[in-house]
Amino acid sequence: MLAYIGLGSNLNNPKQQIKTAVMALHATKDVEVVNLSSLYQSPPVDDSKQPDYINAIAQVNTHLTPLELLYACQAIETQQHRVREKKWGARTIDLDIITYGVQVVASKQLVIPHPEMMNRAFVLIPLAELEPDLKVPVLGPIEDIIQELGAYQLTKL
Ligand code: ATP
Ligand code: CA
Ligand code: CA
Repeated sequence: MLAYIGLGSNLNNPKQQIKTAVMALHATKDVEVVNLSSLYQSPPVDDSKQPDYINAIAQVNTHLTPLELLYACQAIETQQHRVREKKWGARTIDLDIITYGVQVVASKQLVIPHPEMMNRAFVLIPLAELEPDLKVPVLGPIEDIIQELGAYQLTKL
């Protein structure tokens, strides 16, 4: 199954955090990272005095179920010492499952496609870089979702 994982960091050398997480994903049993977008920089959404975020999208080929993939992502977050403070607080690393093939998941633990993806340039733009013709389950063609985005600040590094 082809899945897309969104990676984000704004603490402790974010670029390195993303590289480390991508290597950890690739080292995970039954997960192969087949492509990685450029890195993108953006200010925090809530405009709090956090450092800027670095984000990227990894395309993975996996035999894990969606829930197993979530657990693998959470294990990597733990390895990289993510501390859960307040919602949307600064973090060393965040891994979100953006899409998982054409599958739709809606459970308490896991929602796929990621419920905020349509509002986030830092997800949509790197995703479109990897797969400009992607059809997102429920939401439709990625180019149409991007058309609906309001103004955003995002710098490709
Ligand atoms: P956001 O989800 O808005 O990007 P966040 O990434 O900061 O915020 P977290 O604290 O990392 O939120 O995750 C909270 C919970 O979201 C996780 O414990 C997980 O069970 C749940 N979750 C639901 N859908 C997904 C998904 N597609 N990918 C990752 N986590 C998800
Ligand atoms: Ca997130
Ligand atoms: Ca998350």
